[in-house]
Amino acid sequence: MANKEDAEPVTGRPRSLRVNSLFSEDELIEDYYDAPPANSPGTLGDRMDGTAAAPLSPTIKAGWLDKNPPQGSYIYQKRWVKLDADHLRYFDTEKDAYSKRFIPVSSISRIASVGDQKFEVVTNNRNFVFRAESDADRNEWIRTLQQIAEERKSKALERTSTSLTTNGAADPADKSGFLELRGFKHKLFVAVAGDKVFLYKNAEDYRLGIGITYIEMNVGNVKEVDRRGFDLTTPYRIFSFSADSDQEKEEWVEAMQQSIAEALSNSEVAERIWAVESNRFCADCGSPKPDWASINLCVVICKRCAGEHRGLGPGITKVRSLKMDRKVWTEELIELFHQIGNAVANQFWAANVPPSEAITPASGSQERRRFLIAKYREGKYRRYHPLFGNQEELDRALCAAVTTSDLAETQALLFCGAAVTCATGDPQCPTPLALAEKSGQRLQMEFLLHNKTSETPRLEVGGSEEKPYSVPLPSVTHNGFLYKTPSMAKPVGERKGQEEFSRRWCTLQDGVLSYYENDRNAVPNGEIKVEEIVCLVNNPPHAHGIESTFEVYIESERLYLFGLESPDSAREWLKSIAKSFVHPRAEELLALDFERIGRLHYKGGLNLERAKEGWFALAGSTLHVCFEDSERQEPLQLRKLQELSIQGDNEVLVLVERRRTLYIQGERKLDFLGWVHAIQKAAGGSGHTLAEQQLTESDVPLLVDRCIDYITQCGLTSEGIYRKSGQNSKTTSLLEMLRRDARSVRLKEGEHQVDDVANTLKRFFRDLGDGLFTGRWGQDWLRATALEDEEAKIGEYRRLLGTLPTVNRATLKALINHLFRVQRFSGENQMNTHNLAIVFGPTLFQTDGKDYKAGRVVEDLISHYVKIFNVNDQEMKKQQDEIMAIMKMREAASSGTQQAGDFICTVYLEEKKTEAEQHVKIPATMTAEELTFEILDRRKIVTKEKDYWSCFEVNEREEAERPLHYSEKVLPILHCLGTESYLVVKKQMSMENMLIYLASRVGDCKHGMMKFREERNLLGLGLSTGFHDRYFILNHTCLRLYKEVRSLKQRPPPLENSHKPEKEWPVRNLKVYLGIKKKLRPPTCWGFTVFYENEKHEKQQWYLCCDTQADLREWFATFLHVQNGGALWPSETSKVRASRSPQDSRLGNISLIPLRGNESEMRNSVAAFATDPLTLLRNV
Ligand SMILES: [Zn+2]
Repeated sequence: MANKEDAEPVTGRPRSLRVNSLFSEDELIEDYYDAPPANSPGTLGDRMDGTAAAPLSPTIKAGWLDKNPPQGSYIYQKRWVKLDADHLRYFDTEKDAYSKRFIPVSSISRIASVGDQKFEVVTNNRNFVFRAESDADRNEWIRTLQQIAEERKSKALERTSTSLTTNGAADPADKSGFLELRGFKHKLFVAVAGDKVFLYKNAEDYRLGIGITYIEMNVGNVKEVDRRGFDLTTPYRIFSFSADSDQEKEEWVEAMQQSIAEALSNSEVAERIWAVESNRFCADCGSPKPDWASINLCVVICKRCAGEHRGLGPGITKVRSLKMDRKVWTEELIELFHQIGNAVANQFWAANVPPSEAITPASGSQERRRFLIAKYREGKYRRYHPLFGNQEELDRALCAAVTTSDLAETQALLFCGAAVTCATGDPQCPTPLALAEKSGQRLQMEFLLHNKTSETPRLEVGGSEEKPYSVPLPSVTHNGFLYKTPSMAKPVGERKGQEEFSRRWCTLQDGVLSYYENDRNAVPNGEIKVEEIVCLVNNPPHAHGIESTFEVYIESERLYLFGLESPDSAREWLKSIAKSFVHPRAEELLALDFERIGRLHYKGGLNLERAKEGWFALAGSTLHVCFEDSERQEPLQLRKLQELSIQGDNEVLVLVERRRTLYIQGERKLDFLGWVHAIQKAAGGSGHTLAEQQLTESDVPLLVDRCIDYITQCGLTSEGIYRKSGQNSKTTSLLEMLRRDARSVRLKEGEHQVDDVANTLKRFFRDLGDGLFTGRWGQDWLRATALEDEEAKIGEYRRLLGTLPTVNRATLKALINHLFRVQRFSGENQMNTHNLAIVFGPTLFQTDGKDYKAGRVVEDLISHYVKIFNVNDQEMKKQQDEIMAIMKMREAASSGTQQAGDFICTVYLEEKKTEAEQHVKIPATMTAEELTFEILDRRKIVTKEKDYWSCFEVNEREEAERPLHYSEKVLPILHCLGTESYLVVKKQMSMENMLIYLASRVGDCKHGMMKFREERNLLGLGLSTGFHDRYFILNHTCLRLYKEVRSLKQRPPPLENSHKPEKEWPVRNLKVYLGIKKKLRPPTCWGFTVFYENEKHEKQQWYLCCDTQADLREWFATFLHVQNGGALWPSETSKVRASRSPQDSRLGNISLIPLRGNESEMRNSVAAFATDPLTLLRNV
């Protein structure tokens, strides 16, 4: 046996007076005793004085027995043996507080009589033989032991029964490892678990569960003594421990203090909550005496379920301890747990649990998590409220329920989709919370308050099987020494010195990252399950006292800092860990040289109701994302974001890109904050060269774009623009501001002077690292001026332009384009091409101005702008129009309150004619609904109830139009509008009929005949022979076309698999326009044009014709319904709508929600808007 080697010859030591100094095999512990420490009130064998706190488990049987001698000895040892529900222990005397040995009842497999008044206690690995004084006594012991073991076994069926958990602790250890204990020669293996500290001879014993003794921490007190030492004081003995390092010591002290807190925790709340029978068993797995709770779901749960609850995030469940989180337990909350509690909660949440999916106290963590996700996140077993799916009715019912004492109804409504903050229509009590308050329903208020931010459960398509957690992750194996600090619950604030790291042997195997004291230890000091890892961060070199460090974040809001001296090995570890926890569908991300990788919840697209899970990796200034529903990762250029802001109380990070808005949610605080900082940093301009700036979509530094835009809008006619100098101090501070974060800077007329901005732009170019023309090619540009032949010179400029890096080329083009425009106004501003060249030549080439050639280059570039930059007529015309629009706007708006920097667009009211023209600035956040109201406001049109004013995209070439969905963002549409398209705001005449149709129909798909024509030829010559009858089925995912005409409408639709559709398109990718161009001679006037674009950006276009107007309306309504998740029209309670009318004409043309400015401004705006949309406008 391994223990043998620990046995040392005993020679005449004081304590060998005892019989037991003839050491028995399992009592080598005796041999560890030195003389009792001087300051110690005793040894393990000291006497209880009888007044100390009572032991936590009552004794079932106790008495003197002889313990059999080990091999090679014949002398029995007299022992006081004590049995309680959990342990069989023996002591030197009946007064001892601490045993010499404990055997968990759970590890006893058999008790047998072995003759001579002896009986044998058989455990998994070891046998203990005792001798009683008589056969009767022996039989009594056997009977009692068998009974207790039997009871335990039947309970054990409900518990996990792996060999690892047979140790005496009911819960896995909170901390375990080796410690020196004064008085013992060898280190002991110590485990802190729950409210006890267990001492074992070695790690092997710990694994077997057979230990020396345990300390009940309700009588414990921990005190630090010196750098590595600390005392655990009890009334019977002081245990003086010594750890390997001060870091280790701190971890031990913390763990033991936690254990004391648990032992001393106040069970008053628990007792009161347990007063209701159903609260005495875990709401999820049925474990007895659950001492945790979800305070928003109002369920009482066990510790293991609580751990998994935490993983669901606070949006789903807010976990608190009954015993430790005392502050949260108000009288109302306790009362709420009496009223709702496990009984009422489960009547709702667990109304339909198939027995095969239910969990028991024995369920493993995977199983538990899967069940809890299905139960609470997806609401899979819910009892559906009859109003489910009808938002308005649900909200209305909620407003009614909160004024009554019917909490079960409120629960059902809330978790079936009623909005906790829905509008009540009552100005005195605008929210359900206010209604409850008015009605004096304290418990309703309490319930609403705890669920203020709760998410409605949503059953995912395909069920929980598709959740990434349950997909087996690739098994990665890696091991080696790593440096490690204790885990943390806060971000790593400061640099950690080398001495704060401890060297640990680490293994990554079978989905567990374990760390050991050293490579010879069998029992880990701790472990991290890879499925719990949510984020992995590669720190820059030398961020801490060890060259390479990385951070591992886990679901339960802790982070681990690891380090290595070799960057290569660190990289290998990073790759291995990343590979082990990143979902296979996101494995593309693993190939990146990421700084940070992990999973986060996000919302995007039009469907903002449900948060999805995506995998994110940050590498350089690019955020790579594997969205839940896409196959490939998509890179987001953070430097090119239009907006980057935080909403709420650090809860949502909003990234506005040209084509989409992405909301990243802070489900967990710790890793989310890390992401926010990293993304903000990566999205900001960081250096002095062009490529390091924040960029626009077309690769022009945002700083340059902002300045040019401002001058274009406010300074084209300003005399001496770019020649006059601005105020030096203002220029300096403006440049600094723009350099820091151009995205957040809005140049405003009145606030900024044209000349200051002009000089800021010049100074930016003058100070630019490597210059606009680059150090490498700069001289070639200057030399080109010497070419006499005009054509040859232009050719050379074009060649040189081709050699510039993308950003330089784009910037040069933008700047020259700007100067080209400026000189067009030289009549007013006195800045002709020559003057501009004199100013910009030395600036761009960063010369002293003595070399005339620099000016010549700029002059040539402006003069030959069209040729050198290959500008086509259409582009020129667009610019022309833009300038015209700006000039008109300037004439119109003399008040000067306008912001620069937004896209300006022409929108028509009702029809395209000059009188109906409106020039509107389109901020990135503007939706079609907001645009519509802006236009109506300007024209002071008061909307009536059934006026369905909408914004339409009109395509003149196709003679078709499309009403924009109210929540659609306008800016991306503008960017895609061709020259033959425009936006118009008008009433949507068929909306009412469409809504009536949708509300009255049965089922949610539509099928029937339509006439179909395909545009086959790319040149649009139309090889198609015309329109043909086809059968169509439109369901919630796709549109299918069947060639075979089956219908005549009485026949059932071809739903069976035997009828494969000839064509099939995902509805999501279809754009449906009303109308068909007349050239195609559609057979009826009730047609629509459909554009289809697949993932590879291949486009198709075809035409559908219906027989009647009603039929067209139904098809179109179904398309809209499917594409917009059922929401065709904003509900009447929409705040935007309610507050916008009647209008105050003073409000002029301010865009509706100015979501602009810095974080706090933004938060204030949002908050102000939420309470009273009008205040915001009044303050402007
Ligand atoms: Zn449980």
